[in-house]
Amino acid sequence: MSQPENEEGRGRPPIAQPLGALPPTVLTSLPLQEQTHRLELLGDWVAWLTDRYRLDHRTIPPCWPKHGELIEELAALHLAWEAAYGQLAHGDAPLLWHEHFNLARERLGDAVARSGCRGAQHRR
Ligand SMILES: [Zn+2]
Repeated sequence: MSQPENEEGRGRPPIAQPLGALPPTVLTSLPLQEQTHRLELLGDWVAWLTDRYRLDHRTIPPCWPKHGELIEELAALHLAWEAAYGQLAHGDAPLLWHEHFNLARERLGDAVARSGCRGAQHRR
């Protein structure tokens, strides 16, 4: 049996059901190898998020891993998503996550606008 394709038909692997959130972590406090690993995992989730919510470069540019503030915002959003969809989550947790997500999208958009990055062009 083949993997189901998403709405756009790009065939990305589906995102896994989270078990729950790990404790919050200051990414820069981790050894460099662990930071790299965590960024790769975050990148998988960001790719899913971008595709699922049809976010464009004005919210999450391709160069997001080069922007500390975008990494921190997306890591916090991911952590909250894992908690909201984890096994111990309350039934309204996904709805609350979406409320947080709306605010996060505004902050992401503001940060991207301040960065000067456009499309695939990274500015700093
Ligand atoms: Zn950039």
